[in-house]
Amino acid sequence: MRLRALTPPWPVSDRNARFVTERQAGLLLAASNVTAPPVPERIVADLAGIAVYRLPLPVEGVLSASQPSELGGDIIIDNRLPLAERRVTLMHELKHVIDGGHSAGSEALCADFAMNVLMPAPWLRADWQAGNHDVNALAERYQVPAEGMKHRLHMLGLEREPPRHRRVYCQWQPHTKNTKERRTTQ
Ligand SMILES: [Zn+2]
Repeated sequence: MRLRALTPPWPVSDRNARFVTERQAGLLLAASNVTAPPVPERIVADLAGIAVYRLPLPVEGVLSASQPSELGGDIIIDNRLPLAERRVTLMHELKHVIDGGHSAGSEALCADFAMNVLMPAPWLRADWQAGNHDVNALAERYQVPAEGMKHRLHMLGLEREPPRHRRVYCQWQPHTKNTKERRTTQ
C-alpha cells in the first residue's frame, strides 16, 4: 500500500504525524480523481488490497472494526449507521488500516484523516469564500455530520466558535461508554 509507506514506523512528533495524515488524505483524493463533494465511499474499496465488508444485520457490539494485513486490510462496518456517520467511520477505519498498527491508539489522527478526506480544506475554503456559511447546508453538501463540519470549520479557522464536543467514531478507544451511548441512540 502506497499510503502506508508514508507512515513512519518510528515515533514522530504530533506535528509530523498530522502532516503525514494530511498528505495521505490528499494523495487518496488525487488518486481517486474526486474533485468535488461529496467524496464517495467507494474510494476506500477501490484501493488495492482493501476489502470493505458491510454488515447487513446487527452484530452485537460491532459498529466498525478493521484489521490491517501485509498488503492492505479489511474493514467491517455496520451498514445501518446513518450515512454521514458511516462515511466518517469508514475513513477513520481506513487510517487504522493504512497505519497498520503503527499509530494504534492515536485516535486523533484517524479523526483528522477522516476530516481531511471528506472535507478537503481547499474545497471548504472556496465554499466559505463563496458565502456558504450555513453549517447544516455544508454538512449536507459534504455528507458529513453537522458537528463534524463545525469542528472542521473551526480547525480551518473559518468558524470561531469551537463545537462543544467531538464525537468518537471508533470502538478501539477504551472508553466503551461512548459506544454504549451511541448504540442506545440508534
Ligand atoms: Zn479508531
